[in-house]
Amino acid sequence: MATPSAAPRRIVIENAAIATVDAHDTEYATGHLVVAGNRIESLGAGRAPEGLENVVRRIDATGHLVTPGLVNTHHHFYQWLTRGLATDHNLFDWLVALYPTWARIDESMVRVAAQGSLAMMARGGVTTAMDHHYVYPKGCGDLSAAVIGAARDMGVRFTLARGSMDRSEKDGGLPPDFAVETTEGALAATEETVWTHHDASFDSMTQIAVAPCSPFSVSTELLREGAALARRLGVRLHTHGSETVEEEKFCHELFGMGPTDYFESTGFLGEDVWMAHCVHMNDSDIAAFARTRTGVAHCPSSNARLAAGIARVPDLLRAGVPVGLGVDGTASNESGELHTELRNALLINRLGGHREAALTARQALRLGTFGGAQVLGRADSIGSLEPGKLADLVLWKVDGLAHSSIADPVCALVLGAAAPVTASFVNGRQIVENSRLLYADEEQLARDTRAEARRLARIAAQG
Ligand SMILES: [Zn+2]
Repeated sequence: MATPSAAPRRIVIENAAIATVDAHDTEYATGHLVVAGNRIESLGAGRAPEGLENVVRRIDATGHLVTPGLVNTHHHFYQWLTRGLATDHNLFDWLVALYPTWARIDESMVRVAAQGSLAMMARGGVTTAMDHHYVYPKGCGDLSAAVIGAARDMGVRFTLARGSMDRSEKDGGLPPDFAVETTEGALAATEETVWTHHDASFDSMTQIAVAPCSPFSVSTELLREGAALARRLGVRLHTHGSETVEEEKFCHELFGMGPTDYFESTGFLGEDVWMAHCVHMNDSDIAAFARTRTGVAHCPSSNARLAAGIARVPDLLRAGVPVGLGVDGTASNESGELHTELRNALLINRLGGHREAALTARQALRLGTFGGAQVLGRADSIGSLEPGKLADLVLWKVDGLAHSSIADPVCALVLGAAAPVTASFVNGRQIVENSRLLYADEEQLARDTRAEARRLARIAAQG
């Protein structure tokens, strides 16, 4: 009788260009990568080693670039149902226009919106997603379980940033009074979400962060107590910061200091924190982020859509600040794709002061992969292709009409048209094949998201 092999099931990928995004930016013009179980076992130039046992699949990846899976570091899934509204507004006017609609969401809407958001990202090479959810109307159901379930069903690695708002119009904030939670209620619900869902393990598929929404929708107490709660529970902290000139003015008027100084005064800077946007930062703000190792989620399309400005990404990187990329909510970035943000990050930053020296194509790829893993606190397990790391990786087809004459595959991915995903793996498990999701029905999702968007619009119109 044959002895059952103890070797894990192996998948061998060969004949691909590989960009590892490791510390040395190692690349192979033609190389191989071996997945064993849920880990990357080996990779290198040329063909895979002979004699590997338990190989269940061999992929001839000729004409492809293999990269780490993309990591999205800022999003609001529920906004999938409010795309294409208030399209010519700045941030504050846009928020005031949309809050009354957002305050009508329920569990069914949030589940479908999460499925739509995740589907759009996953078929474009995202293997780790995040959702900063901060709207919890009374009686809305278990929204955290709904979005976590959607990510699990689609096979995407996931961080839920459990958001909150407790500073409404009556306290000088921006949201209407009926759209916010109490400070105590928000903290208790956040702690409960961590206890119920957070998995701190190396190959965790679900993590929770504490994420009060922004200086203009959250009390100082909630920021301070939120930071203390995250540290007590050993989870990460997230919020929006320094997004617009209006926010900067708000902070000076209410707190007598700019956003970065305000965050520091509440304990909201640190190596366990990442912040979305960080557009309006002076040199001392950047130095504070560098000193405290606070991370940044750079969202170039959303910043452009809301006329927020251009984040100083080259200066942040030179100062040593960890920077990842974010789609941001799809009410301010209707495309909802991350692979096109690689290109937008490069192009938009070249419109800033550093011009052509702003970002290289390889730096843009690093922002979307390893940089994202850093700001989510997962750089030890994901974000680069290295032996021992989790097998989250993408095969981009770069030999079609759109890309075949572009001289270099990394430039084809970053500067060319959105590249098709032939295969995407999360935790060693394939979730996309030939740009189609293996665990979701896109046509059904298109119908479901449209129906729920219309239902939300109807309810909101009733007031
Ligand atoms: Zn946001």
